[in-house]
Amino acid sequence: MSGIKGPGSAKDPGLESTPGMDPFADTLQRLREAFSSGRTRSAEFRAAQLNGLSRFLRENKQLLQETLARDLHKAAFHSDISELILCQNEVDLALRSLHTWMKDEPVAKNLVTQLDSAFIRKEPFGLVLILTPWNYPLNLSLVPLVGALAAGNCVVLKPSEMSKCAERVLAEVLPRYLDQSCFAVVLGGPEKTGKLLEHEFDYIFFTGSSRVGKIVMAAAAKHLTPVTLELGGKNPCYVDDNCDPQTVANRVAFFRCFNAGQTCVAPDYVLCSPEMQARLVPALQSAITRFYGNDPQSSQDLGRIINEKHFQRLRDLLSCGRVVIGGQSDESDLYIAPTVLVDVQETEPVMQEEIFGPILPIVNVRSLGQAIDFINRREKPLALYVFSKSSQVVNQMLDRTSSGNFAGNEGFTYLTLTSLPFSGVGKSGMGRYHGKFSFDTFSHHRACLLSHSGLEMLKNIRYPPYSDCRQKLLTWALGSHSCNLL
Ligand code: NAD
Repeated sequence: MSGIKGPGSAKDPGLESTPGMDPFADTLQRLREAFSSGRTRSAEFRAAQLNGLSRFLRENKQLLQETLARDLHKAAFHSDISELILCQNEVDLALRSLHTWMKDEPVAKNLVTQLDSAFIRKEPFGLVLILTPWNYPLNLSLVPLVGALAAGNCVVLKPSEMSKCAERVLAEVLPRYLDQSCFAVVLGGPEKTGKLLEHEFDYIFFTGSSRVGKIVMAAAAKHLTPVTLELGGKNPCYVDDNCDPQTVANRVAFFRCFNAGQTCVAPDYVLCSPEMQARLVPALQSAITRFYGNDPQSSQDLGRIINEKHFQRLRDLLSCGRVVIGGQSDESDLYIAPTVLVDVQETEPVMQEEIFGPILPIVNVRSLGQAIDFINRREKPLALYVFSKSSQVVNQMLDRTSSGNFAGNEGFTYLTLTSLPFSGVGKSGMGRYHGKFSFDTFSHHRACLLSHSGLEMLKNIRYPPYSDCRQKLLTWALGSHSCNLL
């Protein structure tokens, strides 16, 4: 499958294969014209698109579950809690809040502008490109899409070519539920996406690796296009001596192995003392056996690695440090067992790259201070976890580090809250989304001041020549003390 799906794909079947022709030009032109017509701006149009998305989710629930099972061996319930319900929640919130979000936002004024109207208008950017990865292929396509459509944009969605079944459903089924003059799905791998990125967009929303994030940002820079980058990295998980090892092990093992570890916010490695490690390892073994049985490969609740390339990469990582739990793999099934590694050196590959699989290395530190130093020596992570019965320890970790997202005594449950922004910081990304944050991300916040055509007598004070008295009056009227609250 490759090329653009949407209106016109049936009309231009040979376009893509014609050397020298641009396979994207017609579709992008059509979307631009649709945006210029103003059609996407009304609340009614936006609500119709969101209702279409909602119907897509409801009417195809089983198909979507099967799709994710085929791509990633996801159990239906896992697909529900990590993809479908979260998408539906976003759509429902956007539908409920659309009118409020779209309203002009009045702002405080100073004396000089007292008789004027000052407000922020949220206006759509125009043509938005959404590029998505394969690990939560529906969630990471549809959640940004909700924000982009709610904000009144035209959208080109480019799903990952690696989650092939999801790619097909997004290309063939989703467009039937949306106005296809304003929405298109584009297919292709790195080369074709590179060509797509040569075009000018008004906003690019990218979720994926830091490596490709740099390519996207460089392409966007050529057109001065604003970007959101939702990237990955290594997420530390500090386990304090003052905690219940079994409780921590349950939570860490669950969030590490969810989706076979292929989660951008999964705890990537544990930092703890050698004493805590000795208590944690048997507890992790007990949690893994409880969740996935004695033979995790036969568990319905454990996913598979997306493809051979990632399987090989992960199998190589199994040779780092010393395996104390798991370590098995089966290439014919793309299966990697839930694995715990100890005696891991910082210089080994498993501590140098994002793991993105069900492998958990444990690195020893002597104290909270040493853990904080370890974390701060590295790039700011997408997520940071701390487990301790002491709120002081949790708060110190929070106060003395930085990360996109943070959880104390918990995994990535914060993702279920549309009230929290989801974002990276530093090398883990820029920009935020979920809930209203998505709407704001996909809206230009236009500063507006509407004044009177008359009242020139009052405005005369600002024109030269400036007498002493006039200067004093103006200085006073412009001062921050003259700002009023709303
Ligand atoms: P990826 O960066 O390889 O691919 C993401 C998208 O970019 C895909 O659509 C792909 O087709 C496209 N792409 C790939 N190479 C390209 C190139 N050379 N030029 C232009 N486009 C290209 O990422 P992935 O392997 O699909 O996903 C895994 C990564 O995504 C991990 O690093 C993970 O941490 C990250 N991720 C981040 C989040 C988040 O919300 N922060 C969520 C999920 C995954």
